[in-house]
Amino acid sequence: MPTDLEIASQAKMQPISEIAASIGLSADDIEQYGKYKAKINLPVKETPDKKHRLVLVTSINPTPAGEGKSTILVGLGDALAKLNHQTIIAMREPSMGPVFGVKGGATGGGYSQVVPMEDINLHFTGDFHALTSANNTLAALIDNYIMRDNALGLDPRRIIWKRVEDVNDRALRNVVTGLGGLMQGVPRETGFDITPASELMAILCLSTDLMDLKRRVNQIVVGYTYQKEPVTVEQLGFADAITILLKDAIKPNLVQTLAHTPAIVHGGPFANIAHGCNSVLATKTALQLADYTVMEAGFGADLGAEKFMDIKTRALDKHPDAVVVVATVRALKYNGGAQLADLQNEDLDALQNGLKNLNRHIQNVQRFGVPMVVAINHFVSDTDAELAMITENCQSLGVNVVTADAWAKGGEGTLDLAEEVVRLADQPADFHHLYSLDQTIEEKVTTIATKVYGAARVEFSKKAKNQLKQFADRGWNDMPVCIAKTQYSFTDDQTQLGAPTDFVFHIREFVPKLGAGFVVALSGNMLTMPGLSKTPAAVKMTIDEEGTITGLF
Ligand code: ADP
Repeated sequence: MPTDLEIASQAKMQPISEIAASIGLSADDIEQYGKYKAKINLPVKETPDKKHRLVLVTSINPTPAGEGKSTILVGLGDALAKLNHQTIIAMREPSMGPVFGVKGGATGGGYSQVVPMEDINLHFTGDFHALTSANNTLAALIDNYIMRDNALGLDPRRIIWKRVEDVNDRALRNVVTGLGGLMQGVPRETGFDITPASELMAILCLSTDLMDLKRRVNQIVVGYTYQKEPVTVEQLGFADAITILLKDAIKPNLVQTLAHTPAIVHGGPFANIAHGCNSVLATKTALQLADYTVMEAGFGADLGAEKFMDIKTRALDKHPDAVVVVATVRALKYNGGAQLADLQNEDLDALQNGLKNLNRHIQNVQRFGVPMVVAINHFVSDTDAELAMITENCQSLGVNVVTADAWAKGGEGTLDLAEEVVRLADQPADFHHLYSLDQTIEEKVTTIATKVYGAARVEFSKKAKNQLKQFADRGWNDMPVCIAKTQYSFTDDQTQLGAPTDFVFHIREFVPKLGAGFVVALSGNMLTMPGLSKTPAAVKMTIDEEGTITGLF
């Protein structure tokens, strides 16, 4: 089997104007970025004749390589299109941190990919750069404000707005800025986050139009005064400048799959350290133009799907009509104790043990009251006995299960899943959020940790407890919470695989993100700037004089 990149580079793409036309968008409705990428001008016109069905693809806890959620998502979109359902795939934009780090791209795999994959995985239409620039412009404006008359008395020790970049760069996690004397600013300790963890990324992804984005930027709390009063962007008067920098980034990007199914790839917050969902505008646009919108939320259902249900649906004003939980024999064996190097060998004991992980995710998705199906992403190393064991497990729980071969066969290998999704999406849902907004932040965190993660209780650090009190006093209780947690475990310890019970879940700190409209709860030792591994993906990449790249995936 050729590599993902080899398959993608042999693709015969259609001009993006033709892909746009296939969903009713004219030349005036798009702005082309070259021949195969375009931004969609908003708003698009209403199409009341469409079915407006929304399908969410999520997964079990992954191995470090990912479990083929994007691959199944793209295969499912192609399969629905093959069955003559007007379909749009809505995905997140990849961050260059993981591309050059460990995981590789986020454009699907095998014969289920969105293209042009090199472009999408690298600089794409510049949205991440725009976000990085906007974020750092705000940081520079804040530092300048403190150096000048600082009329509000913003305390340099209490600035919570950090700089960002789209690189896994551990060396910048903690820095001191403003060194060098009088004219270089006020020295202060700060740090960098990765762009997908930034509040502006969340704002871009949750805004319903440009003016909503500006309203949210105004609400950002950048820090506190010497009297410990919060200071917002509105008080500083910088919101228009920041919004100007995002006027194009807010427009969804249109590309296509290898089979020419339209795909809207827009926004890319990580699901472990951010809210993990593509933009509300991308999903809304797809819903308006298609009968079926298929989208994914990052990492396992404990992270991306929970945040989709409790954070994004409130801004989107729409819940999924069906959920697909992707599982692989490999990841289940990994969760059941098998070593990464042995995952290609049959191991029914490890699989049996790892099924606990799938079963907890099934139970969690069922909690939201939406029809669901388990999709087994088929790998060539899977044995019949292993596949049968997963099927029997799901059937014993009364959950439908379909094996999908999106990677090797594209949409053709995903037709059974598509048919099941169509059937499920027509069934009535009884959707509900996990918690109501009028609960306290403490109650919300405890609900997620005990109900979804399986914790016995939550332990809040002294700092977190103080913050809970301050947030309540400031009236910041009525927002959803976005828990930053490892993607490998239901616990805050990434080595605890499977489905642990009776554990204590630790929250060390909260970060108020009033522009995004949620409070981030940092668990365990979760960091918002990843680092690179001993052998990053970057060292295996090559480029020749023709510009041909290898080793990207
Ligand atoms: P996720 O969205 O869960 O992170 P991806 O869809 O990005 O996972 O897939 C991760 C990697 O695994 C990709 O390089 C993809 O080509 C590969 N992959 C996915 N499914 C399969 C499969 N069934 N067989 C072999 N490789 C696969």
